[in-house]
Amino acid sequence: MCGIVGYVGKQQAYPILIKGLHRLEYRGYDSAGLALINANDELNVYKTKGKVVNLEHFVEGKDSTGCIGIAHTRWATHGEPSQINAHPHYSKTKNIALIHNGIIENYADLKKKLQAKGIEFVSDTDTEVLVHLIEYIYQRDKSNMVTAVQVALNQVIGAYAIAIIDRNNPETLIVARKSSPLVIGIGDGEFFLASDASPIVEYTKQMIFLDNDEIAVINLKSGVKVKKLNNVEVTPEIKEVMLDVGQLEKGGYPHFMLKEIFEQPECLINCMKGRVNVDLNDVKLAAIIDNKQTLLNANRIVILACGTSWHSGLIGKYLIETFCKIPVDVEYASEFRYRNSVISPNDVVIAISQSGETADTLAAIELAREKGAFVYGICNAVGSSIPRVTHTGSYIHVGPEIGVASTKAFTGQVTVLTMFALALAKAKNIIEHDKFLEMIKELSLIPDKIREVLKHNDKIADLAKIFTYARNFIYLGRGYCFPVALEGALKLKEISYIHAEGYPAAEMKHGPIALIDEEMPVVFIATQNSLYEKVVSNMQEVKARKGRIIAIVNKGDHKLQELADYCIEVPATVDSLEPLITSIPMQLLAYHIAVCKGKNVDQPRNLAKSVTVE
Ligand code: GLU
Repeated sequence: MCGIVGYVGKQQAYPILIKGLHRLEYRGYDSAGLALINANDELNVYKTKGKVVNLEHFVEGKDSTGCIGIAHTRWATHGEPSQINAHPHYSKTKNIALIHNGIIENYADLKKKLQAKGIEFVSDTDTEVLVHLIEYIYQRDKSNMVTAVQVALNQVIGAYAIAIIDRNNPETLIVARKSSPLVIGIGDGEFFLASDASPIVEYTKQMIFLDNDEIAVINLKSGVKVKKLNNVEVTPEIKEVMLDVGQLEKGGYPHFMLKEIFEQPECLINCMKGRVNVDLNDVKLAAIIDNKQTLLNANRIVILACGTSWHSGLIGKYLIETFCKIPVDVEYASEFRYRNSVISPNDVVIAISQSGETADTLAAIELAREKGAFVYGICNAVGSSIPRVTHTGSYIHVGPEIGVASTKAFTGQVTVLTMFALALAKAKNIIEHDKFLEMIKELSLIPDKIREVLKHNDKIADLAKIFTYARNFIYLGRGYCFPVALEGALKLKEISYIHAEGYPAAEMKHGPIALIDEEMPVVFIATQNSLYEKVVSNMQEVKARKGRIIAIVNKGDHKLQELADYCIEVPATVDSLEPLITSIPMQLLAYHIAVCKGKNVDQPRNLAKSVTVE
């Protein structure tokens, strides 16, 4: 998920690698490292926790020579951010060093097997398995390194972009990818490598974008050879890349927020990887397996969170109460910690935070623990404070979120809460088998359905232009889509500074309806779920008072196309998964309105990405 840079050529690799790592800093990371082979064929690995500048300070005064090297910024998924867990990782003989982006799902199995062969592990990462496995196969089969990499990768389940250097072959980089990008730059008698084109583009425009299941051998003399993992040779296509560096850092998008909105299908696939198994009809969360009895004994679940995470928590309440029949309270962490909240040892607390550093949530967890509750964390940043102070938890695995307004972390949290509710309902034996199968199937279709919604981006951008005049917005939804209304309003407030409120649609009559006139835009989430007819009635009430309606509707809903002023179509799914689909047009609408108003979308005024103060 994070950054890779590599070089082989006539120049000193170190400055190129460091500059490349700086170019990749925009992706967010928690540690950095590099490996170089010097003129005496010695392989030196240097790594540090924290920023690339820490790495530079660490290398000062040490041997940083060599015309071949690999470098990495890590975004921890397995094992806390630390010097030991940072990449590159050495093999047992220290002849090989390897860097990796992604997740090795079957690392625990592979690790056990390698440990049984006497191989010792120094880190907690999934990555270290790869380097030991490759060397083990290399020694066992007395083969060449490329074959060993091929054989090893054929045993690996998961996502990876990897790069390897071998001191016995000091003019060659071996690289491979599956579901995680890797780009090779072709210079004049030199080659570059990176996880995206941004660190390479200043040296060469000629690039090879490696495909899934491809392995490339980059040799200073013989150039780049590419084959598939099954050994079939491929002729790589060399593309000319004409993008400016600034654009590349955001993956070609004008803002991180838009990039992150568009990443969501991929992110949710990563989030469900190894957890939702459509072939086996199963949902597994390690934390539920390990703490099954405690969770089954829960009298009540209390969800603690702030901001967007609180909205995903509210969706979590609906999911858990529907599927597990356990009462759930959702509390603002800041309120929970200062009122006389009642918590007992049979309560389970779920704490949700993207950064894992939210000060109020941390304090609320501490209080809940003091009162004897079992605490389950749902976070994105691995090794952050919340995963350390909770009893157990699940990461959402959506990669670093840079835009201050949360998008992919929200859908990642909702996905984890959905898996939590389904896995626990199954453990409790209270979900009908057919319903369970339907949910797994529908959940696995969500990434594709989000892709469908994203196709409306241009249309939503046009719509946004109409509403830049607005000083207020109302968002209405019911059932699972009520929290989506809250989240839609929050997104708009955060980045466009337009005042917006979300309500359960039926609550409108109890106050907000007084605000409706021909100037008031009202966003309705009006998909064809069990509350559809009721929402349509609420829409009539707004129409009767001349409000301007933007409706999120299911494809082909002609009735609402007549009633609403503007419609955005989304694919249908089951009620309980609708937030994962309907929140996407909310994000896009807020984004485009803010862009039209010329606001700083990625860093809105007064807001911080991680709220580490109360
Ligand atoms: N899963 C690996 C680790 O935790 C790689 C993470 C990354 O993509 O940076 O070390």
